[in-house]
Parts: sequence; structure tokens; C-alpha cells
Amino acid sequence: MTVPDPMQGLIDGLLEAVWLVDAGSLRIRAANAAAGDLFGVEAASLCGRGATDLCATPEDLVFWSEASAGLVDQIVSDTLVRDFSGRLLPVTRRVSRIGDGLFLVTCRDRSAQRAAEEELETRLAELRATLESTADGILVTDLSGHIRSFNHRFAGLWALPEEVLARRDDAAVRDWMRASVVDGADYERRLAAIQEATMLQTSDVFTLHSGRVLERLTLPQCTRGHPIGRVFSFRDITEKLAASARIEELSHTDALTGLPNRRLLADRIEFALAMAQRGGNPFALMVLNIDRFKQINDTLGLGVGDRVLLEVTDRIKASLRNVDTVARLGGDEFVLLVHQADAVAAEATARRVIDAMARPFTLDTVSFTVTCSIGIAQSPADGDTADDLMRRADAAMHRVKEAGRASFRFHQPRGDAGRRADNSPMQIDHAMRQALASGQFRLHYQPQIDLKSGQVIGAEALIRWRDPVLGEVSPAEFIPVAEESGFIIAIGDWVLAQAVRQAAAWRANGLEMPVSINVSALQFQQPDFIDHVADALKGASLPARLLELELTESILIHDAAGALQRLQALEQLGVQMAIDDFGTGYSSLGYLKRFPIARLKIDRSFIKNLPDDTSDVAIVNAIIQLGRALNLRVIAEGVETEAQRQFLHDAGCDEFQGFLFAPALDHGSFEGRVGRGEPMPRSVRLVHPV
Ligand code: C2E
Ligand code: MG
Ligand code: MG
Repeated sequence: MTVPDPMQGLIDGLLEAVWLVDAGSLRIRAANAAAGDLFGVEAASLCGRGATDLCATPEDLVFWSEASAGLVDQIVSDTLVRDFSGRLLPVTRRVSRIGDGLFLVTCRDRSAQRAAEEELETRLAELRATLESTADGILVTDLSGHIRSFNHRFAGLWALPEEVLARRDDAAVRDWMRASVVDGADYERRLAAIQEATMLQTSDVFTLHSGRVLERLTLPQCTRGHPIGRVFSFRDITEKLAASARIEELSHTDALTGLPNRRLLADRIEFALAMAQRGGNPFALMVLNIDRFKQINDTLGLGVGDRVLLEVTDRIKASLRNVDTVARLGGDEFVLLVHQADAVAAEATARRVIDAMARPFTLDTVSFTVTCSIGIAQSPADGDTADDLMRRADAAMHRVKEAGRASFRFHQPRGDAGRRADNSPMQIDHAMRQALASGQFRLHYQPQIDLKSGQVIGAEALIRWRDPVLGEVSPAEFIPVAEESGFIIAIGDWVLAQAVRQAAAWRANGLEMPVSINVSALQFQQPDFIDHVADALKGASLPARLLELELTESILIHDAAGALQRLQALEQLGVQMAIDDFGTGYSSLGYLKRFPIARLKIDRSFIKNLPDDTSDVAIVNAIIQLGRALNLRVIAEGVETEAQRQFLHDAGCDEFQGFLFAPALDHGSFEGRVGRGEPMPRSVRLVHPV
């Protein structure tokens, strides 16, 4: 039987592969060109073949057997066919009975679609791998907010419980997220705003109850320019924030003590000034400097120095109210900003701080005393800028130092002589260099008196400087600046030469007067120091026994072995050595015994409150006993009253110097005082400046 032409014509016109199967014989009756293409043969060659030759899956075999029995009429499914070269092709195949004797089979080749699907799957797998490999938590939603996907990091950042994840319940995930955020209502509001604006790109930050801080970045997800959803990425910025907060904090605080630094202090002063200008309360600014802190560092080491600074910090803080500020400007310099403080309150605060320092400091096994000097400026009386107030408080602090430390002082407007304390170190350094070049330095000599005989037995050379602009500048002010800049070496050389010349001149005139000079650490450590001393003596033909060097304890403790060598070389020369400001440093008996020292000079801070202060009495007695035991002479400095002199005399002290007898005098006045103190040998003829 031949197929009616119209049928062939009909199937030839179809794009899909189509063939007709005889319902009785299950043989192919006709096939179109597309069917030939699908199997890779001429369409005509398909005719006469069995239907099961072309579709040979078990599903098809079952179908054709049931179809031939009249049990089924149609089948539609995705299946496979094998072309004539043996290749398997994915197809969608539909078979339907048409009329009585025929089945129409259509097959759509799905190879291209399948390839596209596979490509898509690969892409998706790649995308998922990318998602999982990012450090951020990613959540993808559709336009209505339904969750389409998220990565593990997302689940981790939000600590989503397994059971919420397992349920794949959008509402549960959203509820969990909202409940995790500290301000859930605000979170919800912001999320709604994001969802409302489909094309919005934005980022924000929120804090979770766990304390973690998340940054959220969101962008619309588009295909072909149309938004189809939204991608959220979440990043944990807790550590980053903490680090930047720390950086911020560091830029405002002192690293050692954690106190506000200069910058933060400046802000606080500006604020206090602004408040004061609007009719707020007066406040006080105090500059606090630890006395002899350099010695603590030099003798006990920087580690102990740091611990002292921390202890001082604690004690200052404990003496102030919470609203007040303590700042550390560096080194041993602190600034206290005391709010709502008139003079009475400021004084009370300064006293509290000084009292707080009075308790001994005990670090490990060492106990010692730390004192401080405080200068106070008041707003608005002492200035209306932070600079003015700081400068004045600082100047007042320096006046405390000059006057013997361990106290406080208010800024006092002063005349010409007073201006000196306001000078900056730079000004002083500059002026000092000119002073040396133009011969403005002078030496004054303070008489030293034997307590038993009342005779002047020595002279301490003390440098004096009257600058044409700065006025009289105290050595307590410029010597530290010179030590800092190294200029002390030049000054020290000048003092040495000048003092030796003066002693030689006196001697030439029949006055054998030992002269003591103060030697700074830096000067003592110069490699050629001993040669300088020897040269000076030789140049003036002065016997070495008439020169004494005053050294401080810190010079001797620092590099004790080197110091011992130098001291021995100086001893060889015949020069005398004394320890100045004795009692303020940290001498050990060990080196006092070993070092060739002739005298101890008791620091004037221990003399000041004699004979009433029982602890000073005990200290001075102990030093005198120590001197006896080590066979050293003991001289007391800063003796101002007869009661002090009497006490020292009775305690067995050898010598004294101080205003009671005379301050440091120019050489002419010195000669006069020596003459009046005790009758001088007839041969003595006093001379004029050298
Ligand atoms: P210093 O060596 O302890 O000198 C004693 C200081 O006490 C001197 O202060 C002196 O004028 C002062 N003084 C003496 N008697 C009394 C008194 O009875 N009461 C009071 N309150 N003070 C008294 P000055 O001259 O201001 O010197 C201060 C410090 O400057 C000296 O302390 C010394 O360390 C240093 N200095 C002075 N001249 C020189 C020098 O030529 N070279 C070096 N390197 N340092 C010097
Ligand atoms: Mg001295
Ligand atoms: Mg002294």
C-alpha cells in the first residue's frame, strides 16, 4: 500500500522529524526529510523499517508492543534515539494514533538544548564555587524578597541554625536575621527601603547582639537590563573597626600611660576656654614635672622609670575628679586640667597631688621617694588662649624647681626679672651660645665654712649669666637646656678654666682656697675630660689639691666601671672629688667605698626642714654617720638658719654652705667675706678679676 500523496506532502512541510508507522505491522510507512537528517540517512531509506528500529529504549519497546495490541494510543517523553552512525541523541518524542491504521511519530532533537543546559549547569557550578570562595556572606533574593541562594559564609556570619537552614523557610531566615540585630526595628526599616527601590545600590552597617559588626552591601541583580532580584553581601568588620578605633585612640593618647596626649589636651583646653567665654566657670591648668626623674632613669633604668610614670599617673588620677583631665606631654611632664576651680580649689588640688606622691614608691625591693613640682595658671586671669595658659603654668613650675622643687606655685605676673622663666629652651640655647662667645658668663663663689672653726675652707663656683634681653637667667633654668643640647661641654670647659685661674690668682696672693666646680654627666663622660682637667691645672700652675669636682650620684652609677676608672685617673692627678646633692640619688654603699671620694654634700632639700622634720633629721644623721664610717667629710648645702647650723654642728657634720653665711659672691665680695669671717694671713693680698 502506498501512502497517499497528501500525507507525504503534509509531513514534508514540517520542521520536526516526523514519520508514520503502520499500526498493524509497526513498519514505517513514510518519513520526512528532517527524520532522514536526524538519523543521518536518506528519508526514503527509513520506509519499511520497524518502528522499534528507530526508538529502541525499553520504554519505546513496551509502548509499541502495547500499541500494536490496541492498549495505548500515545506517548510523549524525553528519550534517546540512536542515529545510524551509532550516536545517541536526546530528543522529545511524541507518538499518537492518527485515524485507525497509523501512528504519527514526531521527534525534536534536544542536543542543542541539552548542550546549553549542560553549559548552564557548569556555569552555575562555577558561580557557586565562586560564591563559596568569597570571604563575604552572600544572599541572593528575587524581587519580592524570596531567597534564591546563599553561601555558607552567609549562614556562618549570621549563625543561622541548622534547622532554619534545613527548612528552607524564607520567613524563618528573615526573622532570625532581624532578631540577631541589636536594633531590629531599624534593620527592618532599612531593609524595606532597599526592597522598595529596585535599582538601589547601597551599603550600611549594623551591630549584632553577639557584638559583631556587619557591613552590608547590596546591588540589584539584572538580566538584559531588567532587575530580577538583589544580591546582598555581608562582611564582618568588627576587627577592622576595632583596629581603626585603636588607631584613633592612639592618636589621642599617650602610649605608655593611656592618658590623653598633647593633641587631646589641646582640644579639651579649647573646649574649656569656649565654655569659660560663654560665662562658664573658671578653670586651672597645672603643669606637673617629676623632680629628678632623669636620675631615676639613669640609675634604676628605663623600665623602672616607666613604672614610676605609671604609678605617678595613678596617684594623680586618684587626686582628681573624673571630669578633670590628666594628660602626659612626654617624659616626666604631665598637665592637669581642673574644671570649676578658683584659686582655693586649685591650691587644694595641687596639695592633694603633692600629698599623694608623699607615700614611698616601692618597686620590687627598692623603695624611694618621688616628688613633683607644679605650676598653676588660672583661666581667665592668666590668659585667654591655651598657649598663654600653658606657658604661664610651665613658667610657674620652673620657679618651683628653682626654689627647691617638691611644691607648687601660681603664675605671678612679674616685671623684667620675672620674664626669664617664660623663655623657651630654644631662645635660651641661642642666647647661651652668644653669651659664651661675648663673655657674658661669670663665676660666683659660695663660701664653705668649717662648722667647728667657723673658717671659710672652700668655695663652690656657681655660674651666673645676665643676658641683655632675658635678664638674669638662673643656672637651674639654662644648665638643663645646655645639658640637653650638649652645649654644656663648652660651658663646662669655660667654668673649669675660669675657676682654676681664679684659684691660682688667689693662691698667688697668698690665699689657698680650694675651689669646687660642678661637673655635668656629659662633660664627665667626654673621652678627653681628664686631659682637659690636667691641662687647665698645668696652664694655671695650680696644685691639683685646690680643685674639687662635684659629681652627682647618677653620673657615678651610670657605667660604674667606667666612672671608677676616670675617678682613679683624677685621683692620680691629685684632684678632689665630692658627691653633690647627696641623698637624692640611689648611691650604693658598695661604690661609695670603692670610689676615691673625699666629700659628701647633703642635698639642701634635707636641710630645708631641719631641725623640725623628724625624717629629715634621721636622714641627715644617717648621712653624717655614713660619712664617718667611710672616712668622708660631710658638707651641708643650703643652710639658711642658725637652728640648722646648730643642729648640723651638734650632729657632727663637718662643714656647711648656705645663705646663712653667704650666697654665691663675685670674687671681690668673696674675698671680702673671707677677710671678715676669720682674720686672714697677713700675706694675703686680694686681687682683681682674672
Ligand atoms: P648645686 O650644685 O646644688 O648648687 C647649689 C645651689 O644652691 C646654687 O644654686 C646655690 O646658689 C643655691 N644655694 C646655696 N645656698 C643656698 C641656700 O642657703 N638656700 C637656697 N635656697 N639655695 C642655696 P644655683 O647657683 O642656682 O645653681 C643651681 C644648680 O645649677 C647647681 O646646684 C648646679 O647643679 C647647677 N650649676 C650651677 N653652676 C654650674 C656650673 O658651673 N656647671 C654645672 N654643670 N652646673 C652648674
Ligand atoms: Mg654643686
Ligand atoms: Mg647641690
